[in-house]
Amino acid sequence: MHRLEEDVNKLEAPISCDPSGPKGTLAMGHELPDELILSGTVIAGEDMVVLDGYVVIENGIIKEVCEGRERGHFEGIICPAFVNAHTHVADSIAKDPPFMSLADLVGPSGLKHRILESASDERLVESMRLSISEMLNTGTCAFGDFREGGPHGVDLLIRALEGLEIRSRIFGRPLKDPEDIHPACWGVGLSSTRDYDRGFVEEVVRIARREGKRVAIHAGEAGRDDIEGALAIEPDILIHLSRADLSDLRSVAESGASVVVCPRSNLFTRAGLPDIKAMLSLEINVCVGTDNLMINSTSIFRDMELISKALVRDDRQVFMMCTINGARALGMDERLGSIDPGKEARVIVFDRRSRNLKGSLNPLASIVRRAEPSDIMLRI
Ligand SMILES: [Zn+2]
Repeated sequence: MHRLEEDVNKLEAPISCDPSGPKGTLAMGHELPDELILSGTVIAGEDMVVLDGYVVIENGIIKEVCEGRERGHFEGIICPAFVNAHTHVADSIAKDPPFMSLADLVGPSGLKHRILESASDERLVESMRLSISEMLNTGTCAFGDFREGGPHGVDLLIRALEGLEIRSRIFGRPLKDPEDIHPACWGVGLSSTRDYDRGFVEEVVRIARREGKRVAIHAGEAGRDDIEGALAIEPDILIHLSRADLSDLRSVAESGASVVVCPRSNLFTRAGLPDIKAMLSLEINVCVGTDNLMINSTSIFRDMELISKALVRDDRQVFMMCTINGARALGMDERLGSIDPGKEARVIVFDRRSRNLKGSLNPLASIVRRAEPSDIMLRI
């Protein structure tokens, strides 16, 4: 106990985490101790059970999750860090364009592609790096990014990620030659099937499968007519499905694909809102992406509040969508996405006494519906 008292005293000064620093390093030069105890309200396990207890972390790995009282180095609401299942981080070079249609914004000759094509490598790398740091700052520990620009575009993202303690899954996109898939990609990330020649899509998918890579594709955003074609390539992940009807969703459930919903993006582009309740009742693995950074910040807090109030009045399900479900879709659930012994300690501690959270009747509901990055006391 003596060492713990010392550690607590050392950490008494106000702290904040350096988003670009190595994992477990706090600002002001304080290192986290090898054994760290977090106590208070724990959102524990893959079912996100709320319990009063504590979490023991040893060398960055969760060692124990226990019920009961124990003095910890930090006391608050202890949650798994978020997983942002779908981003386009390079789009952050041109934030908040005028309101415009989906085709004008992200279509093959839309604003996004014109801007990306004319941007220098240095600007793209800097912009992506800032956005990824901001994701860390807002409690995200892992993300899946659709990286355009062929293998060179993927190289730029790898440069942007250097030294940042975030897990990533890169979904690359060949430009002309379907063989042009960067070896560092976890998968291919395709636009709607309507944007390509059918033969090209089939060839890209065939090569991706040969190389052991996943297949992710946008579908059901501008309309529902591309959903059947998307399902025909047997994707692992479908993005959007905001226009899908119940029969489409039944087919998706049968396929076993995960679905990433991006409702903030859908509001901007007027692409409708996804029927998440139906998706969940069909037992689809539904996760959340902040999507295009031109139109959205990377903060998952904004999505949680929107989804819980407008689409799914079930805080636990919404929280799972932003943590363990995303980890499952990105093949990371063995390592992160929940507070379980043996997993990496990618956790957030919220200050339950903050001006914003004090008075909460339900910690999980408050995290989902109200919390802000400024309520974060610690994230590792
Ligand atoms: Zn997208």
